[in-house]
Amino acid sequence: MEINLISDTVTRPTPDMLKAMMQAKVGDDVFKSDPSVNLLEQRAAEMFGREAALYFPSGTMTNQTAIKIHTKPGDQLICDKYAHVYNYEGGGVSFNSGVSCKLIDGHRGMMTAAQVEAGINPPDFYHSPLTSLVCIENTTNKGGGACWDFEELKRIRQLCDTRSLAYHLDGARIWNALVEGSQTASDYGSLFDTISVCLSKGLGCPVGSVLIGDKQHIDKAIRIRKILGGGMRQAGFMAAAGIYALEHHIERLSEDHEKAREIGRLLEGLVWVKKVEPVETNIIIFEIDESHIAEAEFLEKLAEKGVLIIGMGQGKLRIVTHLDYTDQMHKAFLKILNEI
Ligand SMILES: *Cc1c(COP(=O)(O)O)cnc(C)c1O
Repeated sequence: MEINLISDTVTRPTPDMLKAMMQAKVGDDVFKSDPSVNLLEQRAAEMFGREAALYFPSGTMTNQTAIKIHTKPGDQLICDKYAHVYNYEGGGVSFNSGVSCKLIDGHRGMMTAAQVEAGINPPDFYHSPLTSLVCIENTTNKGGGACWDFEELKRIRQLCDTRSLAYHLDGARIWNALVEGSQTASDYGSLFDTISVCLSKGLGCPVGSVLIGDKQHIDKAIRIRKILGGGMRQAGFMAAAGIYALEHHIERLSEDHEKAREIGRLLEGLVWVKKVEPVETNIIIFEIDESHIAEAEFLEKLAEKGVLIIGMGQGKLRIVTHLDYTDQMHKAFLKILNEI
């Protein structure tokens, strides 16, 4: 039995999701005539209480499009040092938008409004780049699946209003935050100029992300998506998976979270584990004590038993629970950890 805990992107469509995909009504989405894509976009916009939404092949492309919309070449955006837009999008911020990042030294990928404020360059000081955008991530990926305090997000909104900055949410895993928190999707919708969400992570779709915002932004986004080569034709087969996932795969994320918490608790009690970061959603980040077992040896031992996890650098290891990580695998994995 292979137990793949590298990421929540490793999932395959469930039989019912596949059925929904096979039965999808499709058309040419570049002409906006794919009914399934149109329906997915409408559902996503409604869910977040916004005017419009646009389907994309990846979360990277939704984020990059949002950054392009909100900035001009030479501008600067503010994000945490762990941000996906800075670390894991291939330098797209500079490649696509000619923008630099002011990195904030936050806590588990999250910044305070005061830190953001200190990061804003004075707009009349023409020696420094013009700050035009704040990007935040919820849940945080490199931050270990941590969830933001919604009050802090509101304070940053106020700051963006008074300082005329755009405010983008990288909500690749917003679903996980929604399941853990007391906010609704439309609470988030009311706070940000644009929101990107992934359907291909915890929700279990093979591909797909959606950018959500007002009509004016989404009208701009469709041109940028075309420029980036993200216009797809009969994408409705994929969008149907997204519609299915929005209906059936959000609530169940709490099962992934419960399994992650159990893994975290077990790790905390093991002698060869040095540190476990608090487990809030489906990501566990931990460090092993190399005086007991070397990292490479540990990963090898797991691989021998069919378990795959990844290193995040600087001695940190990551485990991600997901839709295809079954109760049976969970039992087996806990046993394997106990026996190391
Ligand atoms: C996965 C992820 C994305 C988008 O990644 P793609 O692989 O391009 O879909 C964006 N932001 C965060 C925080 C992510 O974890």
